Amino acid sequence: MGSLTLRGISKSFGATEVLRDIDLEVHDGGFTVFVGPSGCGKSTLLRIVAGLEEPSAGDVLIEGERVNDRAPADREIAMVFQSYALYPHLTVRDNMALGLRQARTPKATIEARVAEAARMLSLEPLLGRRPAELSGGQRQRVAIGRAVVRTPKLFLFDEPLSNLDAALRVNTRVEIARLRRELRATMIYVTHDQTEAMTLADQIVVLNAGRIEQIGAPMELYRDPANIFVAGFIGSPR
Ligand code: ADP
Ligand code: MG
Repeated sequence: MGSLTLRGISKSFGATEVLRDIDLEVHDGGFTVFVGPSGCGKSTLLRIVAGLEEPSAGDVLIEGERVNDRAPADREIAMVFQSYALYPHLTVRDNMALGLRQARTPKATIEARVAEAARMLSLEPLLGRRPAELSGGQRQRVAIGRAVVRTPKLFLFDEPLSNLDAALRVNTRVEIARLRRELRATMIYVTHDQTEAMTLADQIVVLNAGRIEQIGAPMELYRDPANIFVAGFIGSPR
């Protein structure tokens, strides 16, 4: 439903190069995790995929089609942020429905999709509440629900669990894994948490200073790291 190809992606902000010549293939239905130290370019790469940032060079292809010139709204991508970004004055139901209303989706379709997302994410009892009446974990589930109702080809998660405490992180991680199986969607997930990377990914991309150090399945990187950097990142507990 949403394969992704990156070809020779580079990005500079002024004289500062933050990404250099990134090539990547994410297969349809794949779960790819970007890991790497703070400032290595993970969010910038996600933003380029989403169309929120323009690459200085290179191509972004979704299902084999070049989307560089497509606006974010036309890329069939949904992004979930660490900060939730919910509207405080709107109920859970309206937070989830807003994007679809703006896209003039028929009312019956909106209701059906919100109901289905609420079921998947166990949000049914919370639909009438406002964000201030929710826990952090519940807010993040609403933010994920808002992505789900848009039925994107590609989900992008930027450190979605880093504001949650340890127990909630585990719960929400399990939910995301379940959602992935249920939706059969392609997901790209940024984290600096090794456990998240090892348990969620079928492919891990290790980034360092804007370059790819290694790409592989979790156990491949664990057993056969390409260099000391990868070994240190995947091997040592945080
Ligand atoms: P990560 O998500 O891996 O922590 P980022 O992609 O946010 O890293 O940032 C990579 C580098 O690019 C950092 O050095 C950051 O300061 C820089 N950067 C990100 N966005 C901008 C911007 N809009 N203008 C200038 N520099 C930026
Ligand atoms: Mg980041």
